[in-house]
Amino acid sequence: MLNNFLKNNYGISDYILNIAKKAEEKCAESYRKADEICAYNSLRVLKAFSDHGVSEAHLGSTTGYGYDDLGRDTLDKIYADVFGGEDAIVRHNIVNGTMAISTCLYGVLRPGDTLVAATGKPYDTLEEVIGIRNTSSGSLKDFGVNYRQVDMIDSKVDFEGLRNAIDPTVKAVIIQRSKGYDWRDTYSVDAIGEIISFVKSIKSDIICIVDNCYGEFVEEKEPCSVGADLIVGSLIKNPGGGLAMSGGYIVGTKEAVEMVSYRLTCPGIGRECGATLGNNRSMYQGFFMAPEIVRNAVKAGIFCSALFEELGYEVNPSSDGKRSDIITSVKLLSEEKLVAFCRGIQQGAPIDSFVVPAPWDMPGYENKVIMAAGAFVQGSSIEISADGPIKPPFTAYFQGGLTFETAKLALMIAAENVLKIN
Ligand SMILES: *Cc1c(COP(=O)(O)O)cnc(C)c1O
Repeated sequence: MLNNFLKNNYGISDYILNIAKKAEEKCAESYRKADEICAYNSLRVLKAFSDHGVSEAHLGSTTGYGYDDLGRDTLDKIYADVFGGEDAIVRHNIVNGTMAISTCLYGVLRPGDTLVAATGKPYDTLEEVIGIRNTSSGSLKDFGVNYRQVDMIDSKVDFEGLRNAIDPTVKAVIIQRSKGYDWRDTYSVDAIGEIISFVKSIKSDIICIVDNCYGEFVEEKEPCSVGADLIVGSLIKNPGGGLAMSGGYIVGTKEAVEMVSYRLTCPGIGRECGATLGNNRSMYQGFFMAPEIVRNAVKAGIFCSALFEELGYEVNPSSDGKRSDIITSVKLLSEEKLVAFCRGIQQGAPIDSFVVPAPWDMPGYENKVIMAAGAFVQGSSIEISADGPIKPPFTAYFQGGLTFETAKLALMIAAENVLKIN
């Protein structure tokens, strides 16, 4: 019945149906692992809810200054518990992940301090924050904060380079968990722990900040459990569970989170103010759903790897490889195939399925990029999406999928589209 539906409504060929079946068979063990992690994380979240006695009252709202917002203050504690920190700030009005990360950087760094990037060039949008580009715009550089970057060697952290980069002025080190738009392995939480131990063995008071975007709930613990002082992410990715309508979180040590809180609002006020304006309910429900939604996205990624492995493409991670974020990359080796892939994903999205994405000159990027996204929440990439820069080797980055079954369909359409180009 299902196969006929796929054939009649989406034109999926017997060839792709067969390949998909073979792909699924080899995913069994990886799927099982994802289910196991989901079970554990779901129960950890549930326990935090009951430990903090969450009730209808927490789902309510405040206006104005937002003093004594029970829902907000409790959600902070729940995030801290689940992510292994002492304290947290979770706010709908952190506009994106970049703002969450930059709030941490400005919160802890002072003129004359040095920031070191341990995993190579940070995420593109941070270049202007740090002052790698447009240095006079109020960037960290503009405020007298120095920056040193330790590039990776063969996709691995250059520990010797890191040692050399650390001098008495170094106040913070930033580590990016996800591979982002790079063809490298994502850092597992344990691998991040090794970087942090190394840094602290050289200078113990360095504040280690982890850009945790795309990583939440993919493993059974988060980087605070291996020594990170601050971990940061976006609520329109994993921890929002597809339901949070905007926002970001910061979790870490009491001291570091307090410094960051004075940057988020202002010195003296910190986290005491901030009306939630009706956002508590979706942030709570989203966090409750997040382990399950992330599992769906991880399984979609595993299927993506298996399907394109069967079709002969190089993928990262492999269908049986360890995952620490929700991104799967597929080297498609031609512009036409990359475009065809993204168009297939768009067709399988619940919103804007009729839109035909095309490469465009996105501000801030060197090459044209193509993006497929059809989300309930604008730009949300825990929802199904695919994108890639139009340059060799024409790699598609696939992520998300609120439901596994619909993400699978989108991937089959993408595979069908790619197959037609030869
Ligand atoms: C998404 C993301 C960010 C932040 O991006 P925003 O679009 O500002 O939310 C930062 N780092 C990584 C690795 C990301 O995936």
